[in-house]
Amino acid sequence: MNIIIFGPPGAGKGTQSNFIVKKFNLVQLSTGNILRDEIKKKTQLGMEIDKEINLGKFVPDKIISKLVETFLSNKDYKNKIIFDGYPRNLWQANDLDKLLIKYEQKIDLALNLKTDIEIIKKRITGRYLCNKCGKIYNKYFNPPPKNKDCCSDEFLNKREDDNMDIAIKRFNIYMKETSPVLDFYKKKKLLKEINGESSIDQIYKEISDIIAVIEA
Ligand code: ADP
Ligand code: ZN
Repeated sequence: MNIIIFGPPGAGKGTQSNFIVKKFNLVQLSTGNILRDEIKKKTQLGMEIDKEINLGKFVPDKIISKLVETFLSNKDYKNKIIFDGYPRNLWQANDLDKLLIKYEQKIDLALNLKTDIEIIKKRITGRYLCNKCGKIYNKYFNPPPKNKDCCSDEFLNKREDDNMDIAIKRFNIYMKETSPVLDFYKKKKLLKEINGESSIDQIYKEISDIIAVIEA
């Protein structure tokens, strides 16, 4: 099964993907994480991407398309992908359809984590990532465990683009560019809406129930 998870930046896509990947034996394709890894490696491509992201912009569609194709063409990942943060606009949604046909796959479910801007601001300004294991935490809602050799202060990192101004900018771009993509999947009858303002556990339960039904 291939799943897409939608929601504005900070809605909890990464948090939920982390859980779902384990429970349903899927692979997470977070275009954001892949791009950030590229930046860390300081490649030419990485530096170009860095500039765009720090301006609050999207990375060029063609670059994203190449990244996604490496996943879809990988036989180990066939029908096992959870797309997180992609497709971000209609061009990417149409491109994904073409890639799915090319690699004989389909989307089984699209989830939308609906979350308001006021909540998003707290989620983003409080977000921390563990360098070592990749887990996502929040200063306000989901603090990391104390005294561990993983996820302790020395491993926690703030994303450079996680500040209030960029959060608002990214939210507005999301509304403008990504809302039409939701309609695209609604028309295909694949879209399920979820209240992204519920607790992490509650959302996880709702998503698990939906997937279980589809799998059955
Ligand atoms: P996205 O991948 O959609 O950008 P994340 O999964 O990184 O979002 O979550 C953004 C921030 O909000 C993180 O700090 C995370 O710990 C926190 N968070 C995620 N889901 C919830 C939730 N349901 N309630 C409270 N905080 C949450
Ligand atoms: Zn950790």
